[in-house]
Amino acid sequence: MAMPHYDVLIIGSGLAACTLALSLPARMKVLMVTKKRFAESSSAMAQGGIAAVHTAEDSSDAHLQDTLVAGAGLCDQDAVRRVVENGPAAIQWLVDQGVRFDRDALDYHLTREGGHGQRRIFHVADATGRSVQETLLARLRAAPNIELRERHIAVDLITSRKLGRDDRRVHGAYVLDSRADRVLTIAAGATVLATGGAGKVFLYTSNPDTATGDGIAMAWRAGCRVANLEFVQFHPTCLYHPEAKSFLVTEAMRGEGAILRLADGTRFMENHDARLELAPRDIVARAIDFEMKKRGLDCVYLDITHQPAKFITSHFPTIDARCRELGIDITREWIPVAPAAHYTCGGVIVDAHGGTDLAGLYAIGETTCTGLHGANRLASNSLLECLVYGRAAAEHIAALEPAVSLDLPAWDESRVTDADELVVISHNWHELRRAMWDYVGIVRTNKRLERAAHRIALLTGEIHDYYSNFRVTNDLIELRNLVQTADLMVRCAQLRHESRGLHASRDYPDLLPEAVDSVLSSD
Ligand SMILES: Cc1cc2nc3c(=O)[nH]c(=O)nc-3n(C[C@H](O)[C@H](O)[C@H](O)COP(=O)(O)OP(=O)(O)OC[C@H]3O[C@@H](n4cnc5c(N)ncnc54)[C@H](O)[C@@H]3O)c2cc1C
Repeated sequence: MAMPHYDVLIIGSGLAACTLALSLPARMKVLMVTKKRFAESSSAMAQGGIAAVHTAEDSSDAHLQDTLVAGAGLCDQDAVRRVVENGPAAIQWLVDQGVRFDRDALDYHLTREGGHGQRRIFHVADATGRSVQETLLARLRAAPNIELRERHIAVDLITSRKLGRDDRRVHGAYVLDSRADRVLTIAAGATVLATGGAGKVFLYTSNPDTATGDGIAMAWRAGCRVANLEFVQFHPTCLYHPEAKSFLVTEAMRGEGAILRLADGTRFMENHDARLELAPRDIVARAIDFEMKKRGLDCVYLDITHQPAKFITSHFPTIDARCRELGIDITREWIPVAPAAHYTCGGVIVDAHGGTDLAGLYAIGETTCTGLHGANRLASNSLLECLVYGRAAAEHIAALEPAVSLDLPAWDESRVTDADELVVISHNWHELRRAMWDYVGIVRTNKRLERAAHRIALLTGEIHDYYSNFRVTNDLIELRNLVQTADLMVRCAQLRHESRGLHASRDYPDLLPEAVDSVLSSD
């Protein structure tokens, strides 16, 4: 069978991927693959909105300053300027695609979020991501040059090294068609990683199941540098319940007076910060983590029962409904909560147009380290980053000379058999995520990082054996990427001998005078 060849192969279907696909010229033949369904992504779950300067009181300088403050000295100022200055055009592009941001009588209705000095968050009610994604997907489905394939998971990039050449280039990817159970060889002039973050590395996360660090791991294996993976943003209050996967309890509840308690009723925030429950997100997450680790707890409790029942159900209808489904009446009972991994600030190092260390390979969105977020992400800047870099990468790819198409080797399955014991995958998956939660979570110590590194090394060996001997499956591919990304996170954390932004170390509590990226290179 002839090997399919595309001008552009896009891996992922979140906002970064959709923006890039729709910004490429119609003459280019594009394939977009996504490992589950198109709608499954962090992008579709985003509630808050997208930050961009709009009002006369606001300015690019003000947005830049807010981003730099959040980033704790580690942002790349050029990257921040590029993103904030391109923000208004990116929003206009979405409007041109058909996105209908909320308006009031005269203009767009903008909200203000923590860390932003101005109202600058464009939103569509409290379901911005879903609305944007639905609009863009409808456009993609109508584009004759773009082929969309669901349940296709990229396994690995096809590099010059694999072909015995030394020009440091990517020529396409091996992609498992999960339904047909067949690995396809896809050749492409440009290959784009738009695979999102890696929240699933941790036991508790707000991220969808798709966030397994695939792009980071694939880029690393291909020879790209990665950076700043120790900076993982944790949301302080995710609902803790065996059936409540990835359900966030909004911080607005603490804004309305909810109290954090231990199981015996003790209010513990007074031991951590004078602002109590209204302390910033990172401080609250660290306080909860401290109490849970010290006492060996699985969760703490959020208590809003002192407010009138009517007030609670009208202000928090979604949380009320979800908790009721799980048998919790939040007007009378405390809500069990635990912090959860929310956003991966670091990733594959890219330049101003999403170019990586390898020719023909681009990376955009949460999978990257552009320099925008530094040591901590400012709320609602991440969707903006997807838009700005998606558009910049498309412009760069459109100007490329057509690549010479090579004959790529087919996926070799001659030495593998069907897996005999799938329990290995589920056991290792759980063990890794538990170890990362316990040892590489919100507050780190040298000892915990060493423990994590030791376990990751054992798991890596086992997973490598399994991968070498058995036919690939969706779960095995994700597990292999999770353990690879976990290893890179720990190594980045071990490089940082200070506490900065989201990286808190009990052994290095101070801030060093100079802010330096933690860069890992496989060469
Ligand atoms: C609950 C929640 C709320 C949020 N709210 C906001 C907000 O209000 N504002 C904001 O700016 N940010 C928000 N964020 C962060 C923001 O949503 C993400 O950073 C952003 O959507 C990332 O977009 P992306 O395109 O890079 O990745 P994603 O949207 O995660 O998309 C990645 C895609 O790649 C696919 N994929 C992954 N690996 C493979 C593979 N190997 N092969 C094929 N396909 C693959 C996935 O299936 C998925 O479709 C929120 C995040 C969460 C989880």
